[in-house]
Amino acid sequence: MKVNIIGAGVAGLSLAWELSSQGVEVHVYERSSKIGEQACSWFAGGMLAPWCEFENAEPVVLEYGKQALSWWQQVLQDDSVIAKGTLVFAQSRDRKELQRFSRRTQGYELVNQETIASLEPDLANRFQQALYFKDEAHLDPRLALLRLAQQVQKNGVQIHFNQDVKPEELLPEKVVDCRGYQAANDVGSLRPVKGEMLIVRTDELSLSRPVRLLHPRIPLYIVPRDDQHFMIGATMIENGQGHHFSARSMLELLGSAYALHPSFAEAQIIEMGVDLRPAFIDNLPRVERDKNMWRINGLYRHGYLLAPYMARLAADSIIQNKHDIEKLSDFNFNEVTL
Ligand SMILES: Cc1cc2nc3c(=O)[nH]c(=O)nc-3n(C[C@H](O)[C@H](O)[C@H](O)COP(=O)(O)OP(=O)(O)OC[C@H]3O[C@@H](n4cnc5c(N)ncnc54)[C@H](O)[C@@H]3O)c2cc1C
Repeated sequence: MKVNIIGAGVAGLSLAWELSSQGVEVHVYERSSKIGEQACSWFAGGMLAPWCEFENAEPVVLEYGKQALSWWQQVLQDDSVIAKGTLVFAQSRDRKELQRFSRRTQGYELVNQETIASLEPDLANRFQQALYFKDEAHLDPRLALLRLAQQVQKNGVQIHFNQDVKPEELLPEKVVDCRGYQAANDVGSLRPVKGEMLIVRTDELSLSRPVRLLHPRIPLYIVPRDDQHFMIGATMIENGQGHHFSARSMLELLGSAYALHPSFAEAQIIEMGVDLRPAFIDNLPRVERDKNMWRINGLYRHGYLLAPYMARLAADSIIQNKHDIEKLSDFNFNEVTL
């Protein structure tokens, strides 16, 4: 069997892995000259944080998101998945936010100053309490995407760069549209949720795991990367258009980072990144099929968390010629395994 995939973002490459591991001949067509150049996946935080996301996501995100950690570990086969959990803080005036967050999530432990100091010495004495989600993990999405591309190529997948393709051009062969928000003209119900992120560098602070700072209006997360780099993210602008980084977003992100730790004031700004998260009305991703054309889209803010599951769904439908594909929106809350 031969399958053509359009788009080498996290959706397309995850599917390429699932199909090629089962002996399918896979061709990936990517409009850019290299991995990540025009992909939303390049700007992600890389948090594998299903319990934290459960705060404002459907239960299905928790249930299937939990499987992502072992999928990435198994596929990447290196040490890029860092399983050290997440710490969630609020400033003392926003203590209610911490209580609210804890009511809406699971899988955490309420930790005190002493434990915070042992987990993140540089945050010692800055916060009295935190929620510690010890089973969560993170990865550098850029390294992960590059590594995933290498792994699928080892499986025999051919990635054709500089190929701007429309799904209809590849029919009647099997084709899977994984173009993310760039497919919006063909997928009427897709909306853009703009995200702005920063990468900064400072030697004055070290973190071992992602930290979140709750705030009623501007919740923030910071994900440590190699070489004292930190990803600061991310705005969520409904139906945000274009790729400009607004002054307001810059003020809010840096202001919150400074509130987490003053050493961010002296950090060097390395990069300002912007992209559009592809989202459906229920913020859940979908695998859809029309004869020989499939589509994975709507990964919203859960690209790295849910692409593995969506890729499995799509691969099953393609290989077993299934028309009836599970809809995540039909997921029954009682199926959540705590
Ligand atoms: C600031 C920010 C932070 C985020 N943080 C996280 C996070 O911490 N965890 C998480 O899980 N998710 C996160 N996300 C969400 C995640 O990035 C997206 O859900 C995911 O990247 C969508 O992946 P995709 O493969 O569908 O689309 P994309 O990554 O956009 O990939 C689509 C690919 O298709 C190619 N393409 C488009 N049109 C064509 C064409 N005509 N021909 C050939 N190729 C084409 C593009 O060049 C691109 O490479 C974040 C997003 C943003 C913006």
